[in-house]
Amino acid sequence: MSQFTILVVEDEEAIRSMLVMVLQQYDFEVLEAGDVAEAQLILDDTLPDLILLDWMLPKVTGDEWTRRLKSSENFRDLPIILVTAKGEEADKIRGLDLGADDYVTKPFSPKELISRIKAVLRRSGKIHDLTQIKFKDIILDTAQHHASIADNDVEISPTEFRLLSFFLTHPDKVYNRTQLLDQVWGRSVYIEERTVDVHIRRLRKILAKYQREDWLQTVRGFGYRFSEKDS
Ligand code: CA
Repeated sequence: MSQFTILVVEDEEAIRSMLVMVLQQYDFEVLEAGDVAEAQLILDDTLPDLILLDWMLPKVTGDEWTRRLKSSENFRDLPIILVTAKGEEADKIRGLDLGADDYVTKPFSPKELISRIKAVLRRSGKIHDLTQIKFKDIILDTAQHHASIADNDVEISPTEFRLLSFFLTHPDKVYNRTQLLDQVWGRSVYIEERTVDVHIRRLRKILAKYQREDWLQTVRGFGYRFSEKDS
């Protein structure tokens, strides 16, 4: 989860450090603020992936800040989970009405908190983005090892899948066979360089079914490049 940054806004230091600790244990990057003014300063130069926002804060309360953020152009898509101590159903509903993405009620277990955070990140499309590699109309889902080209499900072996995902994330650059072996197969595996050509041919065959073979280009004397531009 280290790709995700969570901003924790909580005035009670003991609770804030507890939250920070829990989130760090789950590998989140954490930013912290004791009140809304501090949190706003953080937002001025960093955009977190989610705000964990205490309801009861001095001066500007969590629900008030939620209302402001959700009605602002820049931050309306920033997910917010309200942390409330109140057992009142009405408050929770009010929080969600204001645009909060979810709430947790103190006391809560670390496990519950993390699963709420993951659910919100998933709903907001952030977790999904992370496992998806996209290049034009080629989409790879690395979590499910699924590939599609122009909305067609593609049958592809694990090696070609890895090769393709390497190319899609490193477009327009030329790689020689040794570099591809290192990057796709790993340095510790001993494979002849010719093997690379075999897999390139197989991958090109797959791409050819969807008229995308021109994107996997041979650069004579150097190696291979994935690009939609003409070689
Ligand atoms: Ca508080």
